[in-house]
Amino acid sequence: TYVVTDNCIACKYTDCVEVCPVDCFYEGENALVIHPDECIDCGVCEPECPADAIRPDTEPDMDEWVEFNRKYAEIW
Ligand code: SF4
Repeated sequence: TYVVTDNCIACKYTDCVEVCPVDCFYEGENALVIHPDECIDCGVCEPECPADAIRPDTEPDMDEWVEFNRKYAEIW
């Protein structure tokens, strides 16, 4: 899965939402989040993010961010 990380906080861009083929972005408290079970790992959103906030969970120390994304995505 791809995850939204701290650079997204208080960001107002929604370029990522527009390109996601499976609509797996959700609104968190102060950031957008990606539902980890719905993301199909296509990677299309990553270069679209002007804040460079979207990262693959294969990078180091991403577990905390996966849980952050899941927590807010599952509210909906
Ligand atoms: Fe959506 Fe693809 Fe980004 Fe996952 S990697 S959030 S499926 S655009």
